[in-house]
Formats: sequence, structure tokens, C-alpha cells
Amino acid sequence: MPTFVYMTRCDGCGHCVDICPSDIMHIDKTYRRALNIEPNMCWECYSCVKACPQQAIDCRGYADFAPLGHSVRALREEKKGTISWKIKFRDGREKNFESPIRTTPWGSIKGPAEYAAPRPADFANQELAHEPDALNIEGGLPALRRNQLKQGVV
Ligand code: SF4
Ligand code: SF4
Repeated sequence: MPTFVYMTRCDGCGHCVDICPSDIMHIDKTYRRALNIEPNMCWECYSCVKACPQQAIDCRGYADFAPLGHSVRALREEKKGTISWKIKFRDGREKNFESPIRTTPWGSIKGPAEYAAPRPADFANQELAHEPDALNIEGGLPALRRNQLKQGVV
């Protein structure tokens, strides 16, 4: 089961819509509340769950740590720099823990349109968009040199 929204908690702010990598969180035009329009395409990445200031979104936990009949709640506390997790297992046990927020501040990442358009030569390059800068590796991607191959096959 992917994400679902508690409509009585949602205030329609749209943060979940902005952050969803699958573009499946939408605002219902009639009720002005968020909903997951394509549950099959949800990665259960929890981005929307953590971004929601109203704790209005619930999501299934991954089956390896929380099988059917459980619940997972996440509370993002920006000021403390933490995300608090509350996991209830189906046998009634509960686990509560905190993890640090490791993402960059909201709105601090440049959008695709703010980068220069790729040049024709970039399409023949093996590097992905924003590489090598985005890799933070000095000198770019490591590559095999001919003399590193035992049989000299390149
Ligand atoms: Fe989108 Fe991830 Fe939320 Fe699923 S869990 S609706 S993929 S942001
Ligand atoms: Fe509703 Fe939360 Fe999405 Fe805002 S982030 S629209 S409150 S579900």
C-alpha cells in the first residue's frame, strides 16, 4: 500500500505535490486536498511524508522491517534538524527513533531550467547531467587505463 492522505488533516499547501519524484501527488480540484492519483507508481520513498507539515500522509513501511498490519508515522522537525519515526508492528510492539535530516534546505537546489542547455557534444559524453561537478570528486569520474587491464583489452 503506497501513500494516502488524511483529508481532515491536509490543508492543501502543496508541498507533497512539489516534492514527489513520481509526480503522483496532486491537489483535488473540488476538495482542495492532496491525493495520490496513481498508487501503483508510488516508490514509497517517503519524501512527501517527511515534507508534509500537517502529518497528513501515511505510507506503508518497507516489508522487511514492518510487514502487513503495521503503521509508520514520520514527523519532520526542521528546527531540531530531525525526523522522528514511530513504527508500530502488527504484534503491538512499537519502535521510536530519530534520524537527522540529511537533505539540503528546502528551495536551495537549482531547478533544471536554471542550468545551461546541454551542447551537442554533451550527448556523446558518458557523464550525466551536472557531472562531474555534482559528484564532488576531484578530477571527475575514475576510469580504467589501458595498463590496468591484464590482457590489454580496451
Ligand atoms: Fe511520491 Fe514518494 Fe510520496 Fe510515493 S512516497 S507519493 S513516490 S513522494
Ligand atoms: Fe496536504 Fe500535507 Fe500535501 Fe500539504 S504536504 S498538501 S498538508 S498532504
